[in-house]
Amino acid sequence: MTAIDSSAPVMVTGATGYVAGQLVKKLLKQGLTVHAPVRDPDKPEKLKYLNEIAAASSGEIKYFKADLLDDGSYDEAMAGCALVFHTASPFKIDVKDPQSELIDPARLGTRNVLQSANRTPEVKRVVLTSSCAAIYGDNADLRTTPDGVFTEETWNTSSSMTHNPYSYSKTVAEKEAWKIAESQSRWDMVVVNPTLVIGPGINPHATSESFNLIKQMGDGTMKTGAPRWGFGAVDVRDLAEAHYNAGFTPTAKGRHIVSGHNTNMFAMSQTLLEKYGEDYPIPRRALPKWLMWVIGPIVDKSITRKAISRNVGLPWIGDNSKSVRELGISYRPLAESMNDFFQQMIDSGLVKKAG
Ligand code: NAP
Repeated sequence: MTAIDSSAPVMVTGATGYVAGQLVKKLLKQGLTVHAPVRDPDKPEKLKYLNEIAAASSGEIKYFKADLLDDGSYDEAMAGCALVFHTASPFKIDVKDPQSELIDPARLGTRNVLQSANRTPEVKRVVLTSSCAAIYGDNADLRTTPDGVFTEETWNTSSSMTHNPYSYSKTVAEKEAWKIAESQSRWDMVVVNPTLVIGPGINPHATSESFNLIKQMGDGTMKTGAPRWGFGAVDVRDLAEAHYNAGFTPTAKGRHIVSGHNTNMFAMSQTLLEKYGEDYPIPRRALPKWLMWVIGPIVDKSITRKAISRNVGLPWIGDNSKSVRELGISYRPLAESMNDFFQQMIDSGLVKKAG
């Protein structure tokens, strides 16, 4: 691909979201014009943080009205854009109807955005925010993965509408995207597959699941212990860099695992102990798998015994070397991301001191 002309506008779907916020910040700081199709362009409170950043940057942001499930609604925002970042997709674990709440917006939404790209002659590249959820379903999948490590070659084959429906939604959406991208040759697609995203967002009150999980490490939910549930984790600021480089590096190609650390829930919580352990109920021991199996689904009905059996006590091992080599990412330490994130939650009142 020839280099993207940085004087052309760039479109970002899901700009109001946690992940996209830091990406839009980076684009605006670089002086780019960002086209942001959002569901509610008339709700100023949803755009407050983006507008504050735009006011302090050399770039400009323009809003358009669009919905993933509204065919053709991205056409207007995409007009004139050479580069499209498609990040919008619901990230929710506790859902009543996976088909309408997760799978339709993920798969049909991706189709909708990429069909707009097919109709927009200026588009040269689409960067798709997929997920490592499209690479693996459970840590137990590692047992049947070549060399015992998740790579860009791996696809999630264990998730379904009834088991890990969010992961299933990301898998079918990425597959749909490749099908559309490979059926034409005018634009190319680069995919970013992040693990669990942590670190401070531009909006301290974001609703992404990332906030729920880390909040529970300090609000007393996990005071009896945190499970050794293997995860990969990446800082939202490093992920913004990865998206940016995926967009502007002409040689970038294919999928990219974007993950700073192979870790687990207990190990993540322990990075908070030194600074916050005295004032907040940070877990001090690892919750045994049998206890998690007994109480997990009672405490949180979105956690199933099948998920516990197939994840707790099992490591997550992913190979991030392609993102380092080809996108030039240098990942910040886990403790820095965790502490910056937790401090943001304290400052915004999301977590409060014990007692
Ligand atoms: P988020 O804060 O909930 O953001 C989701 C974004 O999608 C919001 O901007 C939301 O718009 C938009 N959206 C949802 N349904 C829509 C619809 N029907 N029409 C138009 N827009 C819609 O979640 P996030 O964590 O930033 O996730 C963003 C992307 O990163 C997703 O693709 C997710 O799968 C991926 N990802 C996230 C993580 C993570 O740990 N957070 C890890 C891997 C991949 P509204 O503001 O209008 O709701």
